[in-house]
Amino acid sequence: MEIMIEKLTGIAALRYRVREARATGAIGFVPTMGALHEGHLTLVRQARAECKTVVVSIFVNPTQFNDKKDLEKYPRDLERDIALCQEAGAHLVFAPEPEEIYPDGFCTAVTVDGPLTQTLEGKYRPGHFAGVTTVVAKLLHIVQPDRAYFGEKDWQQLKVVQRMVADLNLPVEIVPCATVREVDGLAMSSRNIRLSPEARKQAVFLPYLLNTAQDIFDAATYESQTDKGPVISAWLTTLLENNIPGAEIDYIAVIDPETLMGVDEIKDRALVALAVKIGGVRLIDNRIIFKR
Ligand code: AMP
Repeated sequence: MEIMIEKLTGIAALRYRVREARATGAIGFVPTMGALHEGHLTLVRQARAECKTVVVSIFVNPTQFNDKKDLEKYPRDLERDIALCQEAGAHLVFAPEPEEIYPDGFCTAVTVDGPLTQTLEGKYRPGHFAGVTTVVAKLLHIVQPDRAYFGEKDWQQLKVVQRMVADLNLPVEIVPCATVREVDGLAMSSRNIRLSPEARKQAVFLPYLLNTAQDIFDAATYESQTDKGPVISAWLTTLLENNIPGAEIDYIAVIDPETLMGVDEIKDRALVALAVKIGGVRLIDNRIIFKR
C-alpha cells in the first residue's frame, strides 16, 4: 500500500506527528533547502531503508546566505519537491515559513568555533556556518530524529555538524552519505540548473580535476614532490586556469579530512576540496585522495 506523504508547516503539528511515529520505530531525518535532485533523494532512500519513518525538511534558511542575491535566486518548487519525497519513500515533509523558525524576538545562535568553521567556506562565506548550525540545531530539536542524513558533497558542513552534535551531546546519529554525481561526474547541486549550457560543459572539469589530484599523488617522486598538499594544490590551480580561463577560484585545498587543516606531506589520505565560480555560479566539490 502506498503511503500518502503529509506536509506540515507548523512546529507543534510536526512534533505531534513525529511523537506518534516514534512509538512505532526509528525516525530518520533529511534536512534540505528544497530544489530536490537525485543527491537529496538518495539520502531519503537511505533513511527509508534504515528507519521506520522518514521526515524531510524543506526550508531555504535565510541566515546561512551571506549573499542576499543568492538567497533570492535560490530555486523553489515545493509541490514538485513533495512529489519527489513521496516517490523516494518519505512520510512527512516539514516546510515551515521563515517566521515559524525565526519568530519576532529570535536572538539565539549556535556556533562552532575554530578552524572547522574559519577555513574554506567559512572564509569565503562569513556567517554561513553560524546560520547552518543554528538552523540544524533547531531542526534536530524540533524533529528529534534517531538518525540524520548529510551529504559528503558538503564535507565541511558535515564535519561542523558532527562537531556540534558531539559537543552538545545531541542524541542523534549523523549518517554521512556519498556524493551523488551526474553521469559525466559533476556533483549534483540545486545550483547546477543556473549554469548556462557553456558553463555546464566547463563545470565537468571540476570532478576531472579532483580525479587528477589522485593521479598526481600516485605519480609522486622525490623530484616532483607531488605527495605534498601545497604542490598538488598548485598543480590543480594551474590546470584549471589553463583549461577554464574564466573560472574564478575561491580555493583548491588539500586538507586533513577531519581537522580541515592544510596538510604538507600526505601520509595515508587527504581531502581535496574546491570552490570555483564558473559562468557566475559558485560550485563546490571534494574527494578523498589516498595512498594505493
Ligand atoms: P541542500 O539542500 O543543498 O542544503 O542539501 C541538503 C542535503 O543534501 C545536505 O546534507 C547535502 O550535503 C546533501 N546533498 C546535496 N547534494 C548532494 C549530492 N550531490 N550528493 C549527496 N548529498 C547531497
